[in-house]
Amino acid sequence: MESSRKLAFSTRAIHAGQAPDALTGAIMTPIYQTSTFVQESPGKFKGDYDYARTANPTRTALEENIASLEEGRYGICFSSGCAAMSAVLHLLKSGDHVLACDDVYGGSFRLLDKVYLPLGIEYSMVSMDDPEKVAAEIRPNTKLIWIETPTNPLLKIIDIAAIAKVARNKGALLAVDNTFASPYLQNPLTLGADIAAHSSTKYLGGHSDLVGGALVTNDEELAKRLHYIQNAIGAIPSPHDCFLLLRSTKTLALRMERHCQNALSIAEWLSAHTAVEKVYYPGLSSHPRHEIAAKQMKAFGGMISVVLKGGLSSARSFLERVKIFSLAESLGGVESLIEHPAIMTHASIPAEQRAALGITDGLVRLSVGIEDLNDLIEDIDASLSSR
Ligand SMILES: *Cc1c(COP(=O)(O)O)cnc(C)c1O
Repeated sequence: MESSRKLAFSTRAIHAGQAPDALTGAIMTPIYQTSTFVQESPGKFKGDYDYARTANPTRTALEENIASLEEGRYGICFSSGCAAMSAVLHLLKSGDHVLACDDVYGGSFRLLDKVYLPLGIEYSMVSMDDPEKVAAEIRPNTKLIWIETPTNPLLKIIDIAAIAKVARNKGALLAVDNTFASPYLQNPLTLGADIAAHSSTKYLGGHSDLVGGALVTNDEELAKRLHYIQNAIGAIPSPHDCFLLLRSTKTLALRMERHCQNALSIAEWLSAHTAVEKVYYPGLSSHPRHEIAAKQMKAFGGMISVVLKGGLSSARSFLERVKIFSLAESLGGVESLIEHPAIMTHASIPAEQRAALGITDGLVRLSVGIEDLNDLIEDIDASLSSR
């Protein structure tokens, strides 16, 4: 696999971190379902492995694979996206401050507000549209800026390169939750971020059959600290889940291309529908930050949010009627999902904050899958117009 020319994404997706098994030639990295590794003499190991919380060969293959996809040198995998974020927050200590974007994932908000704030790690949230405002919000004790782009559920776009500059000037780390874009569409490290974070439950996994998380960085010191935290806390993924993720990333490029094509067509179609008040999709030229999205993303992703005329009752009957779209939390799988953020994924955000952000009762979020486009549009059309 060594080559002076850098291999393209879809090739790295299939090969990075994986070589045929040295013992048998098995082309797939085996599931090393073991907790410990036999030593020849005390402290003398056969390979780099002693105990499977610290490292496991199936996990190593996955960590190298995801690092390569994120254009980074070091990958560190976790048992969930929340465990990955938690490891980043464990870099901080009591008295430190985190500045987060205001439209952050509900579970990330819950970690900041209910778990780390009581431990003395402060946070504040701000709209990240204007880098100067972000700079003004940085405090002397701000150690970390945590952003997400596109955001959930309003698909706001944050200019990663601009925020990275602010972070660097102020000496804070920038972590970007890249779950919604996936490494195929956007690579935060190449835009100046220190850490790319993922819930691999979503597009990286892509088949709604596992929960996982990942961090990628280019900074050796930071990687060492994160590996230390990973081992010390122990929120590691199972070898089987690592195997499933290695299988999933092989098709990430193909899946993302179809997710993006379907979502763009559906967003355009929804924009012209009489039952629809507003469509949020970064690929529409009507999106206020479309240009920035086009600058930092290869395409615009599979997530769409839409405000239906008639508020909660329209949203509820639409969600009860859809047949191909499944009413469920989560996103990023091959199958199309649909949900109601105010009642479902974002219920942990206080009502007045939800209203201030625009997470209204008529808001519905779609995770557009890779089914046939016409079938998806017919499903939406029948469910909207039979009101
Ligand atoms: C799902 C999600 C998370 C949390 O990941 P889990 O794997 O559920 O712990 C974090 N950020 C975003 C943007 C997500 O969608």
